[in-house]
Amino acid sequence: MTPVRDLLVRKGWTLSRRPGPGPMTFVVSDKSGVFCELILEAGEAAGASASVMPAFRLRLRSLRKLDQASRAGLAELSSGLCQFLDSRRPKAGKEILARTEAHEGYQGFDLLLRTTLACNQRCAFCCVPPSRGRITRESLEAELDVLARRLGPKDALTVSGGEPLVDPRLPELLASARARGIRRFVLQTNAVGLDKPGAVERLVRLGVKHFFVSFHSHQPKVYDRITGSRGLFPKAVKALKRLLSGSGYGVTCNVVVNAWNHRALADHMRFLSRLARSCKGRAKGSLEVYFSMINGVGLAKAPETGVDLARAAPFIQEAVAVCEDEGLKVQPFAAEAALPLCLLERPSRYAAHRALGQDRVSYVEEDPSGPRLSGVIGRVKRLSCRECCFDSRCLGVPVEYARLFGLSGLEP
Ligand code: SF4
Repeated sequence: MTPVRDLLVRKGWTLSRRPGPGPMTFVVSDKSGVFCELILEAGEAAGASASVMPAFRLRLRSLRKLDQASRAGLAELSSGLCQFLDSRRPKAGKEILARTEAHEGYQGFDLLLRTTLACNQRCAFCCVPPSRGRITRESLEAELDVLARRLGPKDALTVSGGEPLVDPRLPELLASARARGIRRFVLQTNAVGLDKPGAVERLVRLGVKHFFVSFHSHQPKVYDRITGSRGLFPKAVKALKRLLSGSGYGVTCNVVVNAWNHRALADHMRFLSRLARSCKGRAKGSLEVYFSMINGVGLAKAPETGVDLARAAPFIQEAVAVCEDEGLKVQPFAAEAALPLCLLERPSRYAAHRALGQDRVSYVEEDPSGPRLSGVIGRVKRLSCRECCFDSRCLGVPVEYARLFGLSGLEP
């Protein structure tokens, strides 16, 4: 904690942890009193021993107007605290506790439960460390108790990992959730494992209403490169066919736009369209596509997978146009992982219908050497974004992206 302590002394601030239930919250005070809260997000709320995510996220809530120096100091404080908490996380192989994460989805906040950290793939930009501990069954059951109180009868719980399908406990966990009244699930998966007969139907019977399938390339070699795996492409395609042949549930193909797939996005969409047409079970337009971007953790871990969005924009536009022509439904560019709307030719078609929380977004100035990012954390936009008609419905880009590529691709 030495860097944090030094900073507090330098600034004349004090830091304390707010007791009581709810997310772990730190309060920062100066001689006039408490002026800021730092709230732990993304699965870390119960304390360092419950860590699932590889990086901590502290949401900053200022209680009064802050000058630039204070904001920079708070960013530094937040970063130091994150490093401290990260050093206290369990080592690989240890048992860890399940925590629910709340993520900005395209229709509101999604509650997401990671049931395992194990995975049969190794996507370079993945933000979940595959071998970091085992999530205990007891803690998953305890989390389901809490979720059963939070979720309404029509709400869906997002089940994720790791790869949930590699966890043999998955059917029992879904049944256990159902017994508590949670009856609808969105399954985030790479779908490898759904190629076997009856696998899809079994999950649908257990309440899976939507399959959110990561399928980042239609080219086997690129697929292997992105997913750090060998020979799983045919299984993934077979699984997609099975999914597209059934009905009574939704299917979204999640395509993380990156350095290795962006040039062929349009062909990727044509491939998906052909696949959907070859399967008789689905109505036209019922396959959805979500174009997403690598998050800050992934970009920090694997910057080589990042792509300058200014360069990727024409390929994204072409891919969206193919979707429109071929009857693939493009999901709104409106969730935490969404690409900025200004990359599109007709952004209003894909904008969120509601304002998104902007508390993690900083507006930064640019000079000829690039955006001024010193001390900035979270997500960033250009100052000119304030003039953008989509400002309230856009979360900009992760600061890690801006450090790699600048912000010149964002144009109101
Ligand atoms: S607010 Fe900025 S980043 Fe977002 S769509 Fe507008 S110009 Fe692009």
